[in-house]
Amino acid sequence: MLRIGCHLSSAKGFLAMGQEAVGIGANTFQFFTRNPRGGRAKELNLEDIAAYRSYAEEHGIAQILAHAPYTLNACARDEGLRQFAYDTMCDDLGRLEYLPGAAYNFHPGSHVKQGTETGIRYISDMLNRINENGYGTTILLETMAGKGTEMGRSFEELRAIIDEVEDSSRLGVCMDTCHVFDGGYDIVNHLDQVIEEFDRVIGLERLKAMHLNDSLNGLGSHKDRHEKIGEGNIGLPAFEAVVRHPKLKHLPFFLETPNDLEGYKREIAMLRRLADVSKDSV
Ligand code: FE
Ligand code: FE
Ligand code: ZN
Repeated sequence: MLRIGCHLSSAKGFLAMGQEAVGIGANTFQFFTRNPRGGRAKELNLEDIAAYRSYAEEHGIAQILAHAPYTLNACARDEGLRQFAYDTMCDDLGRLEYLPGAAYNFHPGSHVKQGTETGIRYISDMLNRINENGYGTTILLETMAGKGTEMGRSFEELRAIIDEVEDSSRLGVCMDTCHVFDGGYDIVNHLDQVIEEFDRVIGLERLKAMHLNDSLNGLGSHKDRHEKIGEGNIGLPAFEAVVRHPKLKHLPFFLETPNDLEGYKREIAMLRRLADVSKDSV
């Protein structure tokens, strides 16, 4: 069965997110660990987490994804900003110890004209420092659209970061369909080749999750503007191919499309229909 959900607001807590997910036909979900622009995280509510965990178990919710604030920049020029990224991620990962099985996704960062080599070094340095703390959560680098000096546009860049991390056993990648398409990978006409390239450069065993977003812009546009599934330049047939692909279909899928809960519910139902191979064999 397809594991699919969407990004939910964490304002009302974990149990509320679990209930919301079930209400829209999801069996996983993604949430921001704190305000997406950074800032203080709310006090951990252990009662809410305990209630969520038994609810999740009962309703088959698994492989949820925590998303780091997108303003964190592990490869900033300013040392204070890099330290802030490290401190925030440590705080997030400390909290995630209470949610076993969740993964933690982050945007690698922007090298702000210091060059990709410096970017790669700062990001891997931070991951090495994080590893010293022994957190149990798997950390995912998100594939990016390559806006400005954004890192993680190419599979090679992600591979270079992973290579510099001494213990990369709990390091993976989250592939965002809008980002890779905007980054120049033609998942519309050459999905198999893109997957093969990912496998050759990074290794498919590193691919732990996917963000499903259509794109407002064209292949290689480097824009990163999400669109509803089937209403952008990626289009429905490509999403059908993704959720049915033998090398991808086991992954957890997360929608980050411009939708309210009703819209997400419809997209989840539609993608479940498309993924259901049994309906073909007539
Ligand atoms: Fe993201
Ligand atoms: Fe994403
Ligand atoms: Zn995006």
